[in-house]
Amino acid sequence: MKKSTYFRILLFAKPFGNIVPGYVIYTLLSIIFNITSFSFVMPILQVLFEKTETKIEVVANPDFELSIDYFKQFFHYVQYYLTAQSDPKTVLARICIILMVSVILSNIFNYLSLRYLGLVRARVVRNMRKKVYEKIVALPIGFFSNEKKGNILSRITNDVQEVENSVISSFNVWFKDPITILILFTMLFYISVNLTIFTIVVLPLSGFVIGEITKRLKKVSVKGQDALGKILGIIDETLVGLRIVKAFNAEGYIKDKFNHHNQSYYNNVLSMENKKRLSSPVSQVLGVGVVAGTIYYGGVLVLSNDPSLSIQPHEFFYYILLLAQVLAPLKSIANALSTIQRGLASGDRVFELMDSVNEITDKAGAKTISKFQSGITFENVRFKYDSEEVLKGINLTFEKGKTIALVGPSGGGKSTMIDLIPRFYDPYEGTVKIDGVDLKDLEVNSIRTLMGVVTQESILFNDTIANNIAFGIEASEEAIIQAAKAANAHDFILGTELGYNTEIGDRGLKLSGGQRQRLTIARAILKNPPILLLDEATSALDSESEHLVQEALNNLMLNRTSIIIAHRLSTIQNADLIVVIKDGEIVEQGTHQSLLLENGLYNKLSEMQSA
Ligand code: ADP
Repeated sequence: MKKSTYFRILLFAKPFGNIVPGYVIYTLLSIIFNITSFSFVMPILQVLFEKTETKIEVVANPDFELSIDYFKQFFHYVQYYLTAQSDPKTVLARICIILMVSVILSNIFNYLSLRYLGLVRARVVRNMRKKVYEKIVALPIGFFSNEKKGNILSRITNDVQEVENSVISSFNVWFKDPITILILFTMLFYISVNLTIFTIVVLPLSGFVIGEITKRLKKVSVKGQDALGKILGIIDETLVGLRIVKAFNAEGYIKDKFNHHNQSYYNNVLSMENKKRLSSPVSQVLGVGVVAGTIYYGGVLVLSNDPSLSIQPHEFFYYILLLAQVLAPLKSIANALSTIQRGLASGDRVFELMDSVNEITDKAGAKTISKFQSGITFENVRFKYDSEEVLKGINLTFEKGKTIALVGPSGGGKSTMIDLIPRFYDPYEGTVKIDGVDLKDLEVNSIRTLMGVVTQESILFNDTIANNIAFGIEASEEAIIQAAKAANAHDFILGTELGYNTEIGDRGLKLSGGQRQRLTIARAILKNPPILLLDEATSALDSESEHLVQEALNNLMLNRTSIIIAHRLSTIQNADLIVVIKDGEIVEQGTHQSLLLENGLYNKLSEMQSA
C-alpha cells in the first residue's frame, strides 16, 4: 500500500522523458567531481607528510580500457604527473587548483541536477492540486457535508504541501545517495579491507537505531492533520456565520471550541517536532561514535608492525576523510525515510479524496435530452440523507408550462424534492422522470442544461458583475445587458464604480440582499432554461426592493415551467398548482382558492401569515 502511494505520487511528475536523463547525467557528474576533489587530498597529504622523500614511482599513461585496473593506473599516473616536480610548493599549488576546479564543477552539476528535482516537485504539486480540484467539482453535492469542508481544504493545501516537502525531496535517496555511498565504500575497501569491514559492522547498527526512532512519526502526523482540518472547518464556519456568532453573543462558545482544537494541534505539532528533532542529534552522536571507534582501530593499524595490516599515516587520514563523507548521504537517507512516512500519510489522504466514488454519473449508453416536452414526474419517490426518511413516497407531476408552488412547514422536504430534479441526489426508491424517461437514463449535463436554479442564498462569485451573470456561458455584452434589464438590475449596475466590470467582493458582500438576488435572477434569465427551480428568499426585503425582485422573478418565470418553494404565500396565489408538503408527504394540493376552501393546513398557514 505504502509503496504504491509513493509511485502514484511520482507518476504525477509525468512526462519523465525530459527529467530522468538530465537528472541522471548531472547527478553522476556531480558525484564524480565531488569524489575527484577528495581524491586530490591524498596527494596533498602525501606531499606534506613525505616531503623528505619525494620519490614517486615513475609510471606511464596507461592505454584506455574499461576496468578498475585502468582507473587505478590512470590515477597513479596523474599523481605522478602532478608530483614529478622538484618543487613541492608548485606541486601543492597545482593540486589545490585542481581541487578547487573539481569542487566548483561538482557544485555546478549538483545545482543542475537539483533543478530537475525542483521540476518534479513543482509538477507533482500542480498536477495533484489540479486533480483534486477537478474531483471536488465533479463530486455530487451530497458528498460535501459541513464537517467535510475543512477536511477537504486541509487536503488540498497542507497535505499536498506535505507531499511536496517530504516525498519529492526524498528523490535523491534512490539515486544520488546510494551511488555516492557505493563509490565511497569501494575506495574505502581499496585503502584498507580490515578497517572497512570494521566500520561496516558498526554503521548499520546506527542506521537501525535512527530508523526505529523515526518510525513512529507517521501516526502523529495523521492526528496532526486531522486536527488542522477541524481548525480550518471552524474558521470557515466562523467566517460564514460571523454575523450569527456576534448576534447570539456566542464568541465565547466558538472560541472555546476553536481553542480546544488549536490546543490539540499544538500538542501534536510539539510531539511531532520533538521526535523529528531527536533524529538529528541521535544520528550525530552515533556517527561520531562510529568515527571515534574507527580512529582508534585505524590508529592501531597504523602503529602495527604487521606489514599485511599496516597502512600509511596519510592513507589513514584520507580514509577518515572519506568515511566522514559517507555519513552525509547515510544521514540523508535516514532522514528521508522518516519524512517519506509523513509524506505518504498525507499522500494517502489526498488519494482517498481523489478516489472517492462519484455516485451520480452518466451510466453507459445514457441519452441526451435536448428539449423539454411534457413534464416532470415523481413516482413513489423515497429519499433519505442519513437513516431518517425525508421523502416518504412522493407522487407528483409538474406539467410543462405551469407554475407549481411547494409550500409547508420548514424541514418538510421541499428543498430535497427540488434537489432531486437536476439530479443533485438520487432517490433510493422510486423514480424521477422527465418526459417519461428516468433521469438515471439521461446524461446529467443535458438534464442540467434544461434547468435554471435560483437559490435562497444568492450565490455570487468573486468576479466581475458581467462574469457573474454570464457564469459559465459564452454571452455577448448585449445579451448580458438585456438579461440585467429584465432582472431590474441594469440601473444599479450602472451606478457601481465600473458598471458591469465592477468586481464583487467575497460572497458578494458589497451588494444589498435585493441586488444580489436580482443578479442571480439575471443569470437565470440569460441561461434561458425551459425549467426554472426557484427557492424563494425567506429574508424580508424592504418593500421597494421586494417590488423590484418580484417583478424580476415574474419576468424570469414568463413562458417557463416554474417550480417554486414559496415561503410567503402571498407571492404564489396565482400558481397553477400549490402542493402542501409536511414531514416528507404531500398533504394537500390544489389552487389557492380550492385549498382555502379545504380548510386544511394551507388555510392555517395562510391565516398565520396574514395575521
Ligand atoms: P424544507 O425545504 O421543506 O425546509 P428540506 O428538504 O430542507 O426541507 O429538509 C428535509 C429534512 O432533511 C430536514 O429534516 C433536514 O434536516 C434534512 N436535511 C436536509 N438537508 C440535509 C443534508 N444535507 N444532510 C442531512 N439531512 C438533511
